[in-house]
Amino acid sequence: MKMSFKKMKVWMVVILAAMIIVSIGWVWVVQLEDEKPIVDAQIPESLGRSFNISLDISDHRSGLRHIRAEILKEGQKKVLVEKEFPSDGILAGGKVHNESIVIDTKAKDLNISDGPAVLQMQVRDYSWRNWWHGNQASIEKKIHIDTKAPGIEVLTRAHNIYQGGSCLIIYRLTEPCQRSGVVVGDNFFPGCPGYFEDKHTMLAFFAIDYTQGSGTQIFLNAVDHAGNQTKAGFNYYLKEKKWKKDIINLSDRFLNQKMPEFDVQVSENSKNPLLDKFLLVNRKLRQDNAKVFKALAHKSEAKRNWEGNFIRLPNSARRAGFADHREYRYNGTVVDHQVHLGIDLASLAKAPVPAANTGKVIFADYIGIYGKTVVLDHGFGLMSLYSHLSSIDVQTGQLVSKGDILGRTGTTGLAGGDHLHFGMMVYETMINPIEWWDDNWIMHNITDKLKAVSEFVR
Ligand SMILES: [Zn+2]
Repeated sequence: MKMSFKKMKVWMVVILAAMIIVSIGWVWVVQLEDEKPIVDAQIPESLGRSFNISLDISDHRSGLRHIRAEILKEGQKKVLVEKEFPSDGILAGGKVHNESIVIDTKAKDLNISDGPAVLQMQVRDYSWRNWWHGNQASIEKKIHIDTKAPGIEVLTRAHNIYQGGSCLIIYRLTEPCQRSGVVVGDNFFPGCPGYFEDKHTMLAFFAIDYTQGSGTQIFLNAVDHAGNQTKAGFNYYLKEKKWKKDIINLSDRFLNQKMPEFDVQVSENSKNPLLDKFLLVNRKLRQDNAKVFKALAHKSEAKRNWEGNFIRLPNSARRAGFADHREYRYNGTVVDHQVHLGIDLASLAKAPVPAANTGKVIFADYIGIYGKTVVLDHGFGLMSLYSHLSSIDVQTGQLVSKGDILGRTGTTGLAGGDHLHFGMMVYETMINPIEWWDDNWIMHNITDKLKAVSEFVR
């Protein structure tokens, strides 16, 4: 049967109408999509001499068309970045859907002066919205241009330091900083406000590691909130030390007695599993334990908890010294070398162990070669450590006074006989406790300095 001309006309109109509706729908949904580009930007509040801003921009539907970022200051516009993204043809939208941009520039190159400013950013897409202008994401943020580096004024005069020892420096900053402190070779010792009322006066305890000799670079460093950095040298006198050598003969009796305590697996092919286990404990576990102690540094509060000299385990004899270089022998053969970073003190078995000074318990647990251990925070990065205890009588978070009993001596961990391993740390560095037992040293190196500075700083 043939379709009449009239019927055909009706069908054509219907098909045409359908096509128009589909086209309008397509334009509406696809070309006129209304999703704004997404802008993920880390814009600091202050921009320094040189700065960089990282941006991640994306537009998942019609694609990225254009970005422009500029700084507005005193009626002037300084363009940081302007970029047009390619199109994939008039109907297909943009070629680029994701882009990471790093603005890396110098205030000097922009010819921009210090003071308040506004950072503006616009990102547009390839949508046909807004008369083919696209959807626009805008960011506007008040910023501060600061190209002045912080000033550092050292307030303490003498800085005499022994290798393996510690020192106090007090300095004043001309502006608030995100970070300041003492650089000692690869180590950094942060300075903290809080001791003096003046928020710009900083206290920093720093230490020379037992491995660091007179060639070590030591200076103050400060970075303000805009990222401007200052380095300042100061007067110091570093005295090198020679460390004692100590020989430890490992007996089968000792290994048989101690090794079951450690949950360390040795290779099945080991010819002497007991000795190999000891070597794993002495090397690998020792390093793992050191990391745990280092991680305690950030728990130290900017508050001086201690007063006067630190006390030594009463009626005790010194069995090993700080930084003794130990040579381990088994059946006459040298099998290992390690450095002892504390002082071993022996008294009667299970002797009560007093807190060397007022402090806060920041660690009270069993830890590898150190056995049952307590660590006290004395503030500004200064910490004391008590190991090989047979029992612990305090809990983490507890405040203790000088002389309070922390626990009892013992042989837990890698201890042959009953003794206390006493250590001290300044931030992440193990230091020689001898200085802190000495009234005179504390007077000349700490209290006199604090007194002198407090005469002209509030
Ligand atoms: Zn020890």
